[in-house]
Amino acid sequence: MQKTSTGTLYVFSAPSGAGKTTLVKALLEQTSEIGVSVSHTTRAARAGEVDGKDYNFVSQEAFKELIEQDAFLEHAQVFDNFYGTSQIWVEQELDAGRDVILEIDWQGAQQIRQQMPDMVSVFILPPSREELLKRLTGRGTDAQDIINRRMHDAVSEMSHYGEFDYLIINDEFDTALQELRSVVLARRQRTAVQSQKQQQLLENLLN
Ligand code: 5GP
Repeated sequence: MQKTSTGTLYVFSAPSGAGKTTLVKALLEQTSEIGVSVSHTTRAARAGEVDGKDYNFVSQEAFKELIEQDAFLEHAQVFDNFYGTSQIWVEQELDAGRDVILEIDWQGAQQIRQQMPDMVSVFILPPSREELLKRLTGRGTDAQDIINRRMHDAVSEMSHYGEFDYLIINDEFDTALQELRSVVLARRQRTAVQSQKQQQLLENLLN
């Protein structure tokens, strides 16, 4: 069967504390025909996280088995844990013409960029170091060395911003959301996408 349309694959990366997950949630509420891939991880679920919704939480053994089965589009060790993107769901969604967002780190972004050069990558930054520190400090109950470690990890993630197609500063939430959404909407109007999606309309107009 001939494919009529293919969705766009987006990679969104950010340091922890940039507000990426909240932005993505709002983007999904305002935009149709787009979904987020649920990654597999070996890390423990945090309070409030739901298995199968936030992540598929798996053991190290199960994760290794999935690697051996070639089930991942990309996978990486991010700080202390393993994370991977399931290949099958992403391919099904793209083939059905829907856009897919991967919320992954810079290592995963590099792997996807190599395999799928048409992907669109967005890096989300906090507005300042002070604001990032404030967001990483949380409720103020964490020890200083934990906060220092989070800050160090965030700076290491941010050093890769230059590898991404788009850069969004999450200062004022609604502005950042509008900017993120405008990337997605503009990509959909490209002639290469529209000439497939609007095949019938174009035929009617031209013949
Ligand atoms: P967290 O454990 O805080 O949810 O995520 C830690 C980091 O892992 C974040 O930078 C997040 O984007 C990244 N991450 C989450 N899922 C995946 C994945 O499937 N692949 C890769 N490479 N990174 C991921």
